[in-house]
Amino acid sequence: MTGIVVLGSTNMDLVAYVPKAPQRGETVTGREFRTVPGGKGANQAVAAARAGGEVAMIGAVGTDDFGVVLRETLEHSAVDTDLLRTAEGPSGTAHIVVDDEGGNAIVVIPGANGTVDHLTPGDETLIAAADALLLQLELPLAGVIAGAEAAHRHGVRTVLTPSPAQPLPPELLAVTDLLVPNEHEAALLTGIADPRAAAEALLRQVPQVVITLGAAGSLHAARGAEPVTVPAPRVRAVDTTAAGDTFVGVLTVALVEGRPMPEAMAWASTAAALSVQRAGASSSMPYRPEIDAGRLEGATGG
Ligand code: ATP
Repeated sequence: MTGIVVLGSTNMDLVAYVPKAPQRGETVTGREFRTVPGGKGANQAVAAARAGGEVAMIGAVGTDDFGVVLRETLEHSAVDTDLLRTAEGPSGTAHIVVDDEGGNAIVVIPGANGTVDHLTPGDETLIAAADALLLQLELPLAGVIAGAEAAHRHGVRTVLTPSPAQPLPPELLAVTDLLVPNEHEAALLTGIADPRAAAEALLRQVPQVVITLGAAGSLHAARGAEPVTVPAPRVRAVDTTAAGDTFVGVLTVALVEGRPMPEAMAWASTAAALSVQRAGASSSMPYRPEIDAGRLEGATGG
């Protein structure tokens, strides 16, 4: 196969909407509860598949009912799940409390994701035939490093989202082709608040960086080239959940198609801007015709 392989997490997000988050020992009555299929890996896979990528997912769901739904959600967006393992026990879950001011508190329990600490021979064969491997940090680091090293051995481009933010071991940085942090992760990784300066520092460790800047767009830096900033379309954001995952998934589709970085970033920005105008994570991600139409509108509107 050619295309994109995602090595990453699947989580069921269990979201409680409350006027005010409870303090320790307190019970509050919430307004609403939703279960939303998510996980950074699954979100990036859905974003890339909807943008027209040929996408396969490596990871694990549990033997509970959530596992069935998580797998079906991927398949519904035409993501190949042949190598998505089913691990005995619960699926990954994220327990999220959202208050009326939009603040949230989250507990993530890795569940089945915690079993993906190695590659199977089948995983390596799939990665070897891909054009790009997408990675995040919601799996055990040993699994992420094994995936990135396999891709590197076979000359497959690796795209790493360093989230949840944590120090990156040198052996992972050594096999990362493109690092895509948001500005908080970039600051955390470098100790530098200014995104341009942070990007410059990151280029000492990886050849290319794209830092996402929320409503301010995204910044690309590569060794030996001038940094480029691509603005985000101005939209009214309703729910920015998974904006970053949408951006990375769609960006990778464009890069695999051989499109130049600034064009790929503009296309990914359009997709992310479409997704923030709707509630939900993977459910809010646009399909390719919408992204193309959005790009045309942006171009005519200047
Ligand atoms: P999240 O954690 O919410 O998934 P993130 O923190 O990883 O997102 P951001 O930098 O906030 O990543 O957003 C990623 C991309 O999404 C931005 O580069 C931008 O293109 C788009 N985006 C995010 N917020 C907005 C917004 N309010 N308006 C337009 N585009 C946005």
